[in-house]
Amino acid sequence: MSADVETSLRSPKAYVLARKAIEAMEAYKVWPTALNFELWVHYITGKDSPLAVEIDAIIGGGEPFTDAVGENLAAKHLPKARLNGEILEAGDALSKELDSVSRAIESARESSSAYGQQLATASKSLDAEDKTVIKEMVEELTTATRKVQEENESLETQLADTTAEVGRLREHLEQVRRDSMTDGLTNLANRKAFDEALERACAQAERRGEALTLAVLDIDHFKSFNDTWGHQTGDQVIRYVASVMARVGEPPRIAARYGGEEFALIFPGERARSAMATLEEIREEVSGRILKRRSTNEDLGAITVSAGMAERKVGEGPTSLVERADEALYASKRNGRNRTSSADPISAAA
Ligand code: GH3
Ligand code: MG
Ligand code: MG
Repeated sequence: MSADVETSLRSPKAYVLARKAIEAMEAYKVWPTALNFELWVHYITGKDSPLAVEIDAIIGGGEPFTDAVGENLAAKHLPKARLNGEILEAGDALSKELDSVSRAIESARESSSAYGQQLATASKSLDAEDKTVIKEMVEELTTATRKVQEENESLETQLADTTAEVGRLREHLEQVRRDSMTDGLTNLANRKAFDEALERACAQAERRGEALTLAVLDIDHFKSFNDTWGHQTGDQVIRYVASVMARVGEPPRIAARYGGEEFALIFPGERARSAMATLEEIREEVSGRILKRRSTNEDLGAITVSAGMAERKVGEGPTSLVERADEALYASKRNGRNRTSSADPISAAA
C-alpha cells in the first residue's frame, strides 16, 4: 500500500521529501504544478506503489511527462483528492441555488407585506371618502395586485428551475459518491468501500447471530509477470481476475480490490466451507485460463492466485478478521501458492 503523503509531509523529514520531489521533477523536466508536485511526492514516498511503478515506466520509456500524463496518473491513483474537489464544487453550486431561492422568497415576502399595508390603508379610507378617491384606490390596488401576482409567477418559475437544478446536483453527488467507492481500474468496490462493508457485515453478523466469512486473494508472482510483460498488460490481468471475482461476488457478497494485485471477498451469512468452494472455483478458473495479450494475441501463459480465508468468531471485529484471513493467505504462499487456506479447520457440517 502506498505511503500516506499527508502524514509524511508533516513529519520531520518533510522538507527533505519536498526537495527530493522537486529535484526529481526538475531532472525529468516536469513542470512544478500543484498536481505534479502531489504526484511526485507520492513517487518519492512510495517507491513500490503502483503510481511509482507507472511513473518509472513512463520516465524509463522516455515519454515526456505532459500535463495530460499527470492528469491521467492523478485520476487513476489520487482519486480521493479529485473527488473532494468535485464534492466541494457541487456543494458550492447547491448553496448558490439555495441562496438565490431564499433571496427570491425574501423579496416576495417584502412585496406581500407592502401589499398588506396598502390593503389596510385602503380599508380605513373606504369609510368616509367620495367616489373619485375610491376609484383611485381601486386602481392602486389593482396595480399592486398585479405586481404581487407577477412576483409570485417569477418565484414559481425560479422554484421550478431550482428544484430541477437541485435534482441534477443530487444525481451528480450520488455519482461522485459511487465513484468514490469504486476502484477505477476494475470497477470493483475499492478499499474504502470494502472497509465500510466489512464493518457493517461484522456488526450485522453479531446482531443477527449469523455466519460471516472473509477471504483475501493475491495474484502469485505478479511482480515478475509485470517485469516480463509490462505494467499495462499487468493491469489487464488485474481486470481479468476482477471480472472473475465480480461474477461470483454478486450481492449479498462483496468483491473488492483491496490494493494493487490483492482482492477481498466478503461472504455475509456464509460459513468457511461454502466460501472455500467459491474460492476454489475462482482459483481453478484463473489458473485454467491461458491469457493472451489483446493487441498481439501473444500467449502469456496462465497466472495463479493464492487465497486465505477466516470465518468470523463471535465478538470478532473487522481488524482481527482481516488479520486472520491475511495469515491464511501467507500460509497459502508459503505452501507453494495457487491454493486456498483457511484460518481454522473447516468443519464437516454443511
Ligand atoms: P507473491 O506471489 O508473493 O504475491 O509475489 P508478487 O510478485 O505478486 O508479490 P509482491 O507483493 O512482491 O508484488 C506485487 C506486485 O504487483 C508489485 C507491483 O509491481 C504489482 N502491482 C501492484 N499494483 C499493480 C497495478 O495496479 N498494476 C500492475 N500492473 N501491477 C501492480
Ligand atoms: Mg501482494
Ligand atoms: Mg502477489
